[in-house]
Amino acid sequence: MTRSFLIKPVLGQKYPCVTHGNGIYLFDKQGKQYIDGSSGAVTASIGHGVQEIIDAMAEQAKKVSFVYRSQFTTEAAEQLAKKLSEIAPGDLNWSFFVNSGSEATETAMKIAIQYWQEKGITTKNKIISRRMSYHGITMGALSMSGHVQRRSRFEPMLENYPSVSAPYYYRDAGNLTIEECDDFYAQELETEILRVGKDNIAAFIAEPMIGAAGGALTPSEQYFQKMKAVCDRYDILFIADEVMTGIGRTGKMFAMEHFGVIPDIIATGKGMSAGYTPMAATIVSERVMEAMFSGSKVVMSGHTFSANPQSAAISLAVLHYIEKYNLVENSAEMGAYLKGKICELAEKSEIIGDVRGKGLFLGIEFVEDQLTKTSFSRELDVTSRIVNANFEEGLLVYPANAGQDGLTGDAIILSPPLTITKEEVDEVVRRFSVALEKVEKELSGELTR
Ligand code: PMP
Repeated sequence: MTRSFLIKPVLGQKYPCVTHGNGIYLFDKQGKQYIDGSSGAVTASIGHGVQEIIDAMAEQAKKVSFVYRSQFTTEAAEQLAKKLSEIAPGDLNWSFFVNSGSEATETAMKIAIQYWQEKGITTKNKIISRRMSYHGITMGALSMSGHVQRRSRFEPMLENYPSVSAPYYYRDAGNLTIEECDDFYAQELETEILRVGKDNIAAFIAEPMIGAAGGALTPSEQYFQKMKAVCDRYDILFIADEVMTGIGRTGKMFAMEHFGVIPDIIATGKGMSAGYTPMAATIVSERVMEAMFSGSKVVMSGHTFSANPQSAAISLAVLHYIEKYNLVENSAEMGAYLKGKICELAEKSEIIGDVRGKGLFLGIEFVEDQLTKTSFSRELDVTSRIVNANFEEGLLVYPANAGQDGLTGDAIILSPPLTITKEEVDEVVRRFSVALEKVEKELSGELTR
């Protein structure tokens, strides 16, 4: 009997075996149908089984599937780099291809450190991040992440990089206005930079909207302008981690477009290949690359599969598909429709505390008391209950943490494929409301309100 090491012994949990997917739907061996309401881990952005992508795979496979990055380039990789430079904001024109979001953020970190070295400054080696954050699972990426659960086992081996609060108005606003909150966050960043010393910090990294560690936590329009001004004042590069939010997910091609700030480096992945292949990229500005070109002329990073032609061709086909079918616009439109429907549910619900997000990147936070915003106790594991109840109803939703300590809050992300139609959104909402009602009933039996 063969067993998947990755699944059974490690997780001790039995997952259904998927046989195929079609559009927003997945089907398992038992014939059960699921709506991929989370696009997996916010990844399958164009849905499953798309023929154009299958054709592009076959076409590239007939040409060449692998060449090594420091021996050859390919048309597929060159065209993908060109496409990214066209769709990325400002002068973010240079792409370094990797295979996962973790590699993309870790490469961004290394490029930022190397940038300062090329300028003769060798002390700028730390990266400042937010405590509610997740930038990846490899050691460098995890060092920049605040995600408590994912860090805890490896804490002794991780760098203790400086960190600041995330913009979490739902809990932080209290008597403050959003503007006052933003001033507080910017002030905190400045204080932390002064404490650590500007000469020790290469970059500030932030998810435009926080995913796994926040549940689509969304800043105000001004937040990033204030944070970037502080970075500029102290010669600190700004890295936007758009691994989850990039490529149309939030109703703009890149989420930073909502906030009027052009980063020095963008890390992206997930939706970039919509899950059809492992592919991610670190997109770098002219200003940063100029330092490399006039310096050591090499970016000290890279993986065997970097710029893999097969993956590049698939990712390019995904980007064309997104453009051809106006999926960024559909994300904005269907996202607003879905958010409206969830807000209607929230009015009737006793446990929805906050509905947030943009486009098809929506977060729902659950609380025990809507007035005091008191979170449920950890033991109740409300996030898992919500995820499981939805799973039973045939709707996949993505679990997320919420809470400035990175542990206390319960939240989920709704992020169906950008191809979703209005009728399909209605079905998502129907399944979600059944699951929600189930969990509410279960909890009211256990809690004395
Ligand atoms: N950054 C962000 C914002 C993410 O959401 C993730 C994945 N959840 C990563 C980085 C890491 O990406 P990967 O899992 O592809 O390594």
